[in-house]
Amino acid sequence: MGLIVQKFGGTSVADAERIHRAARRAVAAKERGNQVVVVVSAMGDTTDDLIDLAKQVCTFNGDEITPPKREMDQLLATGEQVTIALMAMAICAQGHSAISFTGGQIGLVTDTAFSKARIQSINKQRIFDQLNEGKIVIVAGFQGITPSGDFTTLGRGGSNATLVAVGAVLQADVCENYTDVDGIYTADPRICKNARKIDQISYDEMLELAGLGASVLQTRAVEFAKKYNVRIHVRNSQNDHEGTWIVAEKPNMEHIVVSGAALKKDLTRVTIKQVPDRPGIAAKIFGDIAAGNIVVDDIIQNVMDDNTANISFTVEHGDLSDIKPVVDRLCKELGARTAPIYQGDLSKVSVVGVGMRVHTGVAQRMFKALADAKINIQNITTSEIRISCIISKEDGPKALQIVHDAFELAGTK
Ligand code: ADP
Ligand code: ASP
Ligand code: MG
Repeated sequence: MGLIVQKFGGTSVADAERIHRAARRAVAAKERGNQVVVVVSAMGDTTDDLIDLAKQVCTFNGDEITPPKREMDQLLATGEQVTIALMAMAICAQGHSAISFTGGQIGLVTDTAFSKARIQSINKQRIFDQLNEGKIVIVAGFQGITPSGDFTTLGRGGSNATLVAVGAVLQADVCENYTDVDGIYTADPRICKNARKIDQISYDEMLELAGLGASVLQTRAVEFAKKYNVRIHVRNSQNDHEGTWIVAEKPNMEHIVVSGAALKKDLTRVTIKQVPDRPGIAAKIFGDIAAGNIVVDDIIQNVMDDNTANISFTVEHGDLSDIKPVVDRLCKELGARTAPIYQGDLSKVSVVGVGMRVHTGVAQRMFKALADAKINIQNITTSEIRISCIISKEDGPKALQIVHDAFELAGTK
């Protein structure tokens, strides 16, 4: 007998029939003699619909405000609460006993960073008590509670983080992440029709891919899985095919130079012009941005002849409303001579593989493929196992396909 945690994403619980199909999987795992915990997302596009509704309500007399963050989380947490109750009912209807819990009810305590809160602790006893009574336990993904009792959410795709955190505290034998594709592919199968399913991928590669646009898993969830050695099996909720295992790196993984390619679609470049060129300025700028919980990337600094510097970096479109007040304030404080520039039509195409540590020529191959397709590279960044190019947004999907094919990802094993 083992302990299995299963997570069903939005499309896998989009209607009553799919909820029953997901419930059937949980019941089947239970009937095989396992203890089963099920984490669920909001049904279908519920989260997007709620965000849309908030936007509508926050526009009044032609003026739009940013929704208050606490209220936004209060709203978004309702999506998952609907699914947990329906899932528990479906399991009961199939003749098994189940109980549903919100994040707060299992003491899933987070910090107070609304909309991207970090998990601090989970009360595993409440879950174990119910499992020991023979019940299937259903947990709401994506949500937690602050120490003072406010609802928080864990960032988009945050149900993945709930899956891994629950799996880690319960020391589950496996975490099954059920989604709408057969596993992790060499590129987003919605964009690259010839993308191939990968059987196994290392935590580090998955971490890079998730951060670079492979939204099938949330970056924080993979970080957590790596730290606590949680095995994740990404699978399709609509069939029984073996999916992709995310595991610790093995020596033979370095034989493959590039494991996957990814596209991050909606990036904005922020440029702060003519700030004084002296020690401490970059530390001040990025310190204040980090304090606002905003992730920035692709940082470039150019020093000018007049003892000033231009500093630019990219952020995701979604973070723009958070970063604008910080940057505008910084420009004033630092005495920048011109207003900051926000350029919102960028994307980033990347290739990832642990094999890059031991193979050469990867960058040249990528740049040549993009050049042959007349795609202009605006900036390049690298890590030990990744190469990324900033390109225009309109070139994005084509660039992903070209890079995918340049490394023959559809055909390699
Ligand atoms: P869920 O609702 O189950 O959490 P998501 O929509 O968040 O599902 O994630 C699944 C989607 O991620 C897939 O439909 C696919 O289009 C996209 N995706 C992007 N990159 C990849 C990749 N490399 N492998 C698999 N899926 C990917
Ligand atoms: N419902 C949330 C979202 O759409 C969390 C998740 O699905 O993982 O981002
Ligand atoms: Mg998701």
